[in-house]
Amino acid sequence: MVSFGIDIGSTTSKCILLRDGQEIIGSSLVVGGIGTDGPRKAVQQVFEAAGISPDEASVSAVTGYGRSSWKDADFQVSELTCHAMGGRFIFPELRTLIDIGGQDAKAIALDKSGMMKNFLMNDKCAAGTGRFLDVMATILQVSVNELGTLALTAQEHASISSTCTVFAESEVISQLASGADRTAVMAGICDSVATRTATLAKRVGIVEPVCISGGVARNAGVRAALEKALGVKLLYSELSQHFGALGAAVYAYRKSGAKSE
Ligand code: ADP
Repeated sequence: MVSFGIDIGSTTSKCILLRDGQEIIGSSLVVGGIGTDGPRKAVQQVFEAAGISPDEASVSAVTGYGRSSWKDADFQVSELTCHAMGGRFIFPELRTLIDIGGQDAKAIALDKSGMMKNFLMNDKCAAGTGRFLDVMATILQVSVNELGTLALTAQEHASISSTCTVFAESEVISQLASGADRTAVMAGICDSVATRTATLAKRVGIVEPVCISGGVARNAGVRAALEKALGVKLLYSELSQHFGALGAAVYAYRKSGAKSE
């Protein structure tokens, strides 16, 4: 039995196909989230990747910021539930999940059985999210991926003191204009995201194992800075950006009985 999960985010659309609630048989990621044709493309790509037709998926669930725009799924599920389920699928003992996406960041505490105990979210301010990194990467004329890997090569870290993206943008431009080392500025940018996220995560309570999910998890500079700020090892999976879609596929599988009733 194949279950299908789709996560329609603010900037990207992700899909996962799961066989018998256990085996990932296809994944896709398309840049373009809510309000674009990204979701439709991501769906087409995931079925192509798995080599099956959409009719072969018995049950489906949608999550993400744009979930209410997608009418074709059997279930609509919150991002918190899906990230927690996706996280536990990859890391079965997981107790704390830190998700940094394109426009929000969340910290989720799970109990031993994987039930959500508590969560905190920043969805009010671009600082501490992927948006902040995307703006900074544009100023520095590097990809967001390069920003993270170059930050790791920095000999020293610049300090970005502004907590607002718009002011931080001016601060970065003036630091570059006064000759600051580019990699040091990149490291400072990663530190800034890590500091904000660490504050959120500490308030929710850190219990190991801890993992990082969302697109920003792919940023090696932010991962390193966050490990330092929290003083714990962060579990990381190549599928980190897909945890929401994966959790949706797991949820759909578990609810498949309800659908056929
Ligand atoms: P959403 O679900 O809100 O669309 P995602 O979880 O997909 O957001 O995360 C999007 C963010 O991930 C982008 O803003 C970007 O900063 C970051 N990102 C995406 N791909 C990469 C990559 N290859 N390396 C580093 N960061 C990345």
